[in-house]
Amino acid sequence: MFFKGTHKELASSLESIGAAFAIFEIRANGVSEIISANTLFEEVSCRPLAECIGRTLAEIIPRYVEKPMRGFLERCLAEQSPQEGELIIEREGNCRWWRLVASPVLPSKDSRGQRVIAALIEITEKKRLEQELEISRQRFEAVVQTAYDGVISIDEKQTIKMMNEAARYIFGVSDDSVIGSNLSRFLPQRFRGKHPGYVASFRNSSVDARPMQSRSPVIGMRANGTEFPLEVTISKIRVGNEIEMTAVIRDITERVRLIEELSRAATHDHLTGVFNRRHGIDALRLELARCVRFHHSMSIMMFDLDHFKVINDEYGHACGDQVLVSIVETIAKTLREVDVLCRWGGEEFLVLLPGTSGDDAFALAERAREFIARKPIMWDSEQVVKITASFGVATYTDDSLTVEQLLERADSALYQAKELGRNRSVLSTVR
Ligand code: GH3
Ligand code: MG
Ligand code: MG
Repeated sequence: MFFKGTHKELASSLESIGAAFAIFEIRANGVSEIISANTLFEEVSCRPLAECIGRTLAEIIPRYVEKPMRGFLERCLAEQSPQEGELIIEREGNCRWWRLVASPVLPSKDSRGQRVIAALIEITEKKRLEQELEISRQRFEAVVQTAYDGVISIDEKQTIKMMNEAARYIFGVSDDSVIGSNLSRFLPQRFRGKHPGYVASFRNSSVDARPMQSRSPVIGMRANGTEFPLEVTISKIRVGNEIEMTAVIRDITERVRLIEELSRAATHDHLTGVFNRRHGIDALRLELARCVRFHHSMSIMMFDLDHFKVINDEYGHACGDQVLVSIVETIAKTLREVDVLCRWGGEEFLVLLPGTSGDDAFALAERAREFIARKPIMWDSEQVVKITASFGVATYTDDSLTVEQLLERADSALYQAKELGRNRSVLSTVR
């Protein structure tokens, strides 16, 4: 019905449509004349309908809108098929978006018409939401990409959906080929079998986010095959119809190394590498408790280097240090796995000998003493430093014996050995 007729004849039909509507006739010279339109079209033209009818598009619409709009109309007529596009019309600083659907009006099934009917639907709000969504997507993208922590998202089949710069750096991958590949490539072989089960159980759990490790760190594997400790927090989100799991990861190699270093420093002597006094006392308490509980035998030997001060004075402190290290190496060779050697302080050492009687401990002390006395220590590649040590041995005698008493007995025996002329062992006879 719209292929002919005047505004007067068509107006009432157009008014019944709930969108801005206009009928254009494209003249031979390409000019588009507005034949009819409804009142809603005033929103597009920003002028009374009466001023639009019979006018050309160029007369009522700003030039920057007229050009693309005319393009749609001309294409619609040329191709005799509907055309669709978006228009932005700005008036007094106010932008409004319109979706234009231009359809040719065909007089009959096989003939070509000269009229085009244009429907304009305002999409300003939708556009604004789209823009806000895009801004928030960009913000999210920027936060994720610039984050110090690695972020990896996987689907339920462990397929990597997203991996930020930091995660790529941590795992030593650089290109996009990682997207779409399976997460198992970043797990050591021994963990790959069970991982899908963990993913499935987290997916089905009622918890949305949690740290992954319970006691020990999670172990990851870099592209070059090296393993490293990770701190991982996992969360799940619904993306469309799918559940995606996201892991925020942090390479904690340095932290783990520091903790190991600190815990070693807390129990070991930094010069000789053997246990320190603190650990020695703890170990002694534990061993004494075992003796009470299981009626084991146990002895301790305390030894002190003789005239060590002279070594420092004659060859220097560095030589003294070297002697301490060498003595520890020598002594360690005479001990069993279960024995505990610790530096008690300065040039004094304590050895715990679990399951050892006083006599056996004394024999052991004598053997160690001879070892030390016989072993010359090289210093500065030409000087030979000789050193001896005195040993005090004490043994566990009864259940009421305290750690302090046992140490006191060994200390007295050591004092006696010194008194008796050094380079000797004394077994405490206190019962
Ligand atoms: P004694 O036979 O009576 O034990 O004589 P001594 O000289 O061994 O004993 P003294 O207690 O007089 O001297 C111990 C020396 O050990 C003094 C101290 O400077 C030295 N010393 C303690 N710790 C270290 C160390 O870590 N390195 C070095 N080079 N010397 C140390
Ligand atoms: Mg000494
Ligand atoms: Mg001493």
